Amino acid sequence: MQRVLVLDKGKNPLMPCHSARARQLLMQGKAAVFRQYPFTIILKERDGGDVQPVTIKVDPGSKTTGIALVADFKQGKCVIWAGKLTHRGQQIRDRLLSRRQIRRSRKTRYRAPRFLNRRRAEGWLAPSLQSRVENTLTWVNRLRRWSPIDSLSMELVRFDTQLMQNAEISGVEYQQGELAGYQVREYLLEKWGRKCAYCHATDRPLEIEHITPKSRGGSNRVSNLTVACHKCNRRKGSQTATEFGYPNIQQQAKQPLKDAAAINATRWALWRRMDVLGLPLEVGTGGHTKFNRRKQDYPKSHWIDAACVGESGQQVCISPNHAPLQIKAMGHQSRQMCRVDKYGFPRTSPKQGRVHFGFQTGDMVKALVTKGVKRGMYVGRVSVRASGFFNITTPTGTTQGIGYRYYTPIHKSDGYLYEKGEALCSATTRVAVSPRQVQ
Ligand SMILES: [Zn+2]
Repeated sequence: MQRVLVLDKGKNPLMPCHSARARQLLMQGKAAVFRQYPFTIILKERDGGDVQPVTIKVDPGSKTTGIALVADFKQGKCVIWAGKLTHRGQQIRDRLLSRRQIRRSRKTRYRAPRFLNRRRAEGWLAPSLQSRVENTLTWVNRLRRWSPIDSLSMELVRFDTQLMQNAEISGVEYQQGELAGYQVREYLLEKWGRKCAYCHATDRPLEIEHITPKSRGGSNRVSNLTVACHKCNRRKGSQTATEFGYPNIQQQAKQPLKDAAAINATRWALWRRMDVLGLPLEVGTGGHTKFNRRKQDYPKSHWIDAACVGESGQQVCISPNHAPLQIKAMGHQSRQMCRVDKYGFPRTSPKQGRVHFGFQTGDMVKALVTKGVKRGMYVGRVSVRASGFFNITTPTGTTQGIGYRYYTPIHKSDGYLYEKGEALCSATTRVAVSPRQVQ
């Protein structure tokens, strides 16, 4: 179960506690709510306390990054907090495109074309990729502030290239169910483009296949392996690829997969930034993660993958009803000074202040509407309007035009949208505690 993050009187992180314990502390008045998302409490009396080692584990993905806090208890490793961080890659691309187009249609004086005066910095990443790195780091740094994290762990590459190089040269035992076997399989799938080497089928399970069969003295080296569908594998039988009518397969297999294909620029950029945080950093391969997850029979999910990263992911206890916090990157405001019509002419007056009636777009709010057709209870993200009639977006949809008097702030805008996945952020604690936030 998702634990509650705990801070002491001096805002130093303590060991995250069970939600029932947090509720008790809040009801006794010994603690106050520090943050709603992720749910964090601050103790009023205590200063300092015992902490167990906690590792933050990250599985960086292109759309979603999984984050898991794993505590090393006496009885074993256990996931105590998890988050699913959704990035905004496409949104950034769209916004930059729109900015470019607006600038292009702007009427400005003639400027002589300039060229050859731009250079990209070393390690430059496209803005959408850079945002993934920054989002992930933001959350690593935030969680370090609110929980006693003393080591980092992340998935860096898909498979161990060093191991594969050896495998190309000297061969490995690649039996199924073994770590090396998983790595070899991942590598071969990548090398052969995730399709049958003979019939190019992609829609069926692929098997590891010996180009020169073992019965004819073929080796277990990766340069003698390919992937094939069951049908082709059966049909080929004890023939070599050349006899089977595919002479160039042998040639293709001799070329090792280029390093570039195995390297993911974003992950390396993230690794470089994590490496300087000053905590021990463990790296794992995708093959290892998958192997750990399968062995422990966990379903596929980014945060579960995160918990299974590397050596330390071999034995991790995950509660079946653990609901991770859904975090979605939304960005802050827009740089556009006013709205334009379809010809690029200004349509509205220049934008005014962003705060209306004490609310700002992006705040997480609660609205209890007591009368009218919109009667009901809403918890979600607000979009403010100067008129005082705001829109609220909840997981079920958007409701427009609810007066500002109905709204209660529960979390100020911090660039992310949170969706209720946590068990503990519901009415029970809010009734017990005064809605005053310590922060
Ligand atoms: Zn086939």
